[in-house]
Amino acid sequence: MSIWPSADKLSSSAYASTQLDAIQLWTGNCCEYSMMPKLVSLAEKLTSSSELDHNWQTAISVTLGYRDSFIAYTMWSTMHHSHSTVCLQTEQASSSCFIASCKQSKNDGSNGMCSISTTRRYRRLAATHCPDAASAFAFSFHPPGFGAERSSRFGSVRRGAGPRPDGCDSELRPRAQAVGTAMAAPCWRTVLAVLEVVSTACWAGSAVFPWDGVRLPKHVVPLHYHLVIHPNLSTLTFTGSVAIDVAVTQATRAVVLHSKRLNVTGAAVEAGAGSSCAVRAVKVLEMQPREQLALLAAEPLCAGHRYTVTIQYAAKLSDTFHGFYKSTYRTQEGEVRVLASTHFEPTSARMAFPCFDEPAFKATFSVKIRRDPNHLALSNMPLVKSVNIASWLVEDHFDTSVKMSTYLVAFIISDFKSISKVSSHGVKISVYTVPEKINQAHYALDAAVKLLDFYEDYFSIPYPLPKQDLAAIPDFQSGAMENWGLTTYRESALLYDPEKSSASSRLWITMIIAHELAHQWFGNLVTMEWWNDLWLNEGFAKFMELLSVNVTHPELRVEDYFLKRCFDAMESDALNSSHPVSTPMEDPAQILEMFDDISYEKGACILNMLREYLTADVFKAGLVQYLQKYSYQNTKNEDLWDSLTNICPTVGTEKCELLGDGFCRRNQQSSSSAHWTKETLDVKAMMDTWTLQKGFPLVTVTVRGKNVHVAQEHYRKGVDSPSPTENGYLWQIPLTYITSKSNTVERFLMRTKTDVIILPEEVEWIKFNVDMSGYYIVHYEDDGWDRLINLLRENHTMISSNDRASLINNIFQLVRIKKLSISKAFDLTLYMKWETQIMPILQGMNELVPIYKLMERRDMDDTEKHLKDYIVNLLKDLIDKQFWSDEGSVSERILRQSLLLFACVRRYQPCVDKAEEYFSKWQKSNGTVRLPADVKTAVYAVGAQTSEGWDFLLNKYQHHSFSVDKDKIASALSLTRNKDKLQWLMDEALRGDIIKTQDFPFIIVSVARNPSGYHLAWTFLRENWEKLVEKFELGSPSIAGIVTGVTNQYSTRPQLAQVKEFFSSLEEKSAQLRCIQQAIETIEDNIQWMDRNFEEIKTWLQKNHP
Ligand SMILES: [Zn+2]
Repeated sequence: MSIWPSADKLSSSAYASTQLDAIQLWTGNCCEYSMMPKLVSLAEKLTSSSELDHNWQTAISVTLGYRDSFIAYTMWSTMHHSHSTVCLQTEQASSSCFIASCKQSKNDGSNGMCSISTTRRYRRLAATHCPDAASAFAFSFHPPGFGAERSSRFGSVRRGAGPRPDGCDSELRPRAQAVGTAMAAPCWRTVLAVLEVVSTACWAGSAVFPWDGVRLPKHVVPLHYHLVIHPNLSTLTFTGSVAIDVAVTQATRAVVLHSKRLNVTGAAVEAGAGSSCAVRAVKVLEMQPREQLALLAAEPLCAGHRYTVTIQYAAKLSDTFHGFYKSTYRTQEGEVRVLASTHFEPTSARMAFPCFDEPAFKATFSVKIRRDPNHLALSNMPLVKSVNIASWLVEDHFDTSVKMSTYLVAFIISDFKSISKVSSHGVKISVYTVPEKINQAHYALDAAVKLLDFYEDYFSIPYPLPKQDLAAIPDFQSGAMENWGLTTYRESALLYDPEKSSASSRLWITMIIAHELAHQWFGNLVTMEWWNDLWLNEGFAKFMELLSVNVTHPELRVEDYFLKRCFDAMESDALNSSHPVSTPMEDPAQILEMFDDISYEKGACILNMLREYLTADVFKAGLVQYLQKYSYQNTKNEDLWDSLTNICPTVGTEKCELLGDGFCRRNQQSSSSAHWTKETLDVKAMMDTWTLQKGFPLVTVTVRGKNVHVAQEHYRKGVDSPSPTENGYLWQIPLTYITSKSNTVERFLMRTKTDVIILPEEVEWIKFNVDMSGYYIVHYEDDGWDRLINLLRENHTMISSNDRASLINNIFQLVRIKKLSISKAFDLTLYMKWETQIMPILQGMNELVPIYKLMERRDMDDTEKHLKDYIVNLLKDLIDKQFWSDEGSVSERILRQSLLLFACVRRYQPCVDKAEEYFSKWQKSNGTVRLPADVKTAVYAVGAQTSEGWDFLLNKYQHHSFSVDKDKIASALSLTRNKDKLQWLMDEALRGDIIKTQDFPFIIVSVARNPSGYHLAWTFLRENWEKLVEKFELGSPSIAGIVTGVTNQYSTRPQLAQVKEFFSSLEEKSAQLRCIQQAIETIEDNIQWMDRNFEEIKTWLQKNHP
């Protein structure tokens, strides 16, 4: 009964006060009244139509009312003849009839139940549709006081009036009675009419959508897709047809699947071969807000049978970076060429073809692509044959794929060139790029061959496809995508020029390829059941980068950079707006939000911690078992934990030795390295504490003689407002530590709030979380920190460089939650004068640079300058030692690049002089003189400071075909202090002509970091929000990066107010984005931080760096 408004809500006074246009309609002259006979006859025709079966008729209901005397009428199949009587009464009784509204469900998603917004609109629709018996109507009336909540309940119950997926009408009758009873209340003084007439010919317009879930029903399961795609690169459109073989597990009248922005031109459901059922004509309904299509058959599809669902459609190539989208590039001759490529993860396959677009609906795919003879088509599988359909049209047939999720399907139509090699396991590996860049593809090809071979060996599962293509797409939003057999990349994530590329791009490219190839197993072969466990894909791929590149490219020393991931993850995980690694969600924007540091970086960090805990062998055996057991299937968190637990019932048992096939036997070596002997392994219990609760623990260590007291609590920024659930937080922490007396890593599994570890002897110092391989931070009580600071000052190489980096990180995190003073943290940084290793240096810069950035935003010139001076002075010796060349190991080169850029941007004179010298030489030669790759960023940054230099760089940018260099130039251009130029950069990047739109997020964040640009960036974000969301998708990492990147150095209350005001003015879906909560929390934290620490920093600097 709650579906209908109570009588008091329908009193005339309530009506009188309403704003609804519908009121004008029914109190007006009722010109629409003339429509009534036509509607009546239409209803009459429909209800007696032989085409309609019982259930269809029940969807037809008519309720009419009059001022002062009202008649409610609901028509059912058994009583439809009286319908005309009602209408005749209508005609006689009143001159002010009322028909509330008419709007196609397609346009507003209200399931055919909607109120019209204006009278004018109603009249137009009525004029268009009412005389036409083949049209469809859904009239409803939303009475005043009918708030959003009730209104939506109203809608959802009303949906029951349509044919249900299972063909059942049991809920229909009670509804009808309810309506009838309510309407019969004699006290109503108003006229109310609800008329719902549905015609068979135009079901699509307004029939009731048969499904009200965001997730698809599970009783129609796709088995195989036959897909034909025909893009037209001139008109930027495409047509397609898909035939999906489905299995029906439960009788149903409706096939519900996904479709977004596809114009369906035809559809049918046919019974599978051998079945006695005839071909079914279907009606197509669309539910745009949920991106769903329903194909309604006149009779139920039978359980246990197979059918083929065919749909023909047409669409535009997307102008974004997802779905089936357009990409362009300019040749050296200046010609603009167009290609079309796909990016489907997570929910955009539905933009290219109607499909069951959820990861658990795995199926096989046969793809056919029609193209111009001068183009090349690629898809997941190898080409089987090409058929000439016409002299101007070729149809490429690709082999049938393995069973996989829709988000992994891919195709590209382009003029790309390729190079290939065959891996030692016989897989053909090719790299595709635009023709002019093919000479930059060799590094990626070699890396891919090595990495694919590594994975086949490591996982003991062959790569199941005959080929692996890696394609560099000129327009690409993220870094890369793991489509099975056809991985796609941003150009700068794949193309490498040994002469021009910097060491950091070599590291980055290798890791990205390692990531996408790891996905061919983690993600493609075994896929998460639903996006809530996205981390099973992404955390693993991130973690495997470390494992594989370590073996295939040891010279990159990739393990050095791993801890940075954990620091990054902790940065957002420390906020209240964080979420558990595994988080329930349904909506596409929420799904996109899962592609964040928590799924990727935290996922990788907790896996690394688990590997440490289980030992490398056990961990590997567990993974292999997991991948083998769940191949071509979908998994949840616990499936992984089960696989890892069942490897060895208890660690340390002699019987427990591991073999490649997943059997369990422990060998001598790993037995001796297992330090958890007395623990019974309950991997699930331990890992649940890391994946099902957000945040991470702070472990506080207090040393009393030989006793080490440890206590854990939830580390959280802004602890002034602890959450009510706070006390429930408890982790199982695999603690590791070394001491002044022993550098053997000791282990202790902490499972309670507090515990005590007893050392064999008293120690000078103790360092927990060795090499930062655990996902927690540590506070040393009493003089614990002083002892460690002393150690760093006196003999910092006693502990590893990762340990030093982790101390730098942890001490600043403790200042944030008021456990330590900022002076203590600055005291620690003094040792950096002697530091030479990349990670402690970069971490020191990561902590110190943002502090003066905050000051820049508050115009605290003197202290800001003083602080910059202190940092430069700290690193001066190391900066002075740098060669301006490309020699040295990868980490030396990456350190050089960072240090020189830092020094030059902070105007350290020796650096600036040198950079100016290089720049003018380069400029005089018109860019032909070769600059060492690793010093380019510094040289460009200095060059861009003059107007002339800036223009010269821009000119080079426009004519450069080498994307990595373009990124460096763009970064330098954004360092100018000229506001017009900064504004121009953002405008151009969004326009996408000279600067590609894919680079916009990078440009706006760079401008925001520039002291001259942060106002501009914020204004730009506000003014162009709609466009940005349209282009980059609500919830995407790009949007999140823009929001947090533009605001994360704000530290004043007016800035906070502005940010809050703008985002709260947005429509609900935008305003609720997690990145906005993060931005607000971060600014609040910055404000508090500055209020608390500014004066102290000033004093500390005066004392220690006069
Ligand atoms: Zn990934």
